[in-house]
Amino acid sequence: MLASKPRHATDFERGTRSYTMSQIRGKDTGPERIVRSYLFSRGLRFRKNDKRYPGHPDVVLPKYRAIIFVNGCFWHLHEGCPQARLPQSNVDYWTAKLTRNKKRDTQQQEQLRAQGWTVLVVWACELAPARRQETLEGLYERIVRAESKKN
Ligand SMILES: [Zn+2]
Repeated sequence: MLASKPRHATDFERGTRSYTMSQIRGKDTGPERIVRSYLFSRGLRFRKNDKRYPGHPDVVLPKYRAIIFVNGCFWHLHEGCPQARLPQSNVDYWTAKLTRNKKRDTQQQEQLRAQGWTVLVVWACELAPARRQETLEGLYERIVRAESKKN
């Protein structure tokens, strides 16, 4: 009896600790990280979470004058996406909150485009394993094209 109890406690602590670590890493986990490591592997260099720009874009490529937002489907209300479905409770609250997020995204992207940036949005659902490669290759092409358009 005594032997199993401490072991269980340790497992629990370990689980808690790794959860905490993932929270600390914050913006550099998951979808953003997939996009960044792919672009880096294709030889592109960029800045991360640049606070000088509206919306603190996940990726800024000054050479291509391109900005990338990697958006979670729920928080940024990806239209027509199953992952952007509203919770069943507090519908008014969530509708107002997520609509506000969406409106802010649109305004920030308009500001950036007015400043001459090419704004590209990658949705988290597009990075699911089955779609990931196509999404990333398409993104790369759009970045490179963004530069040639200006020359
Ligand atoms: Zn989506």
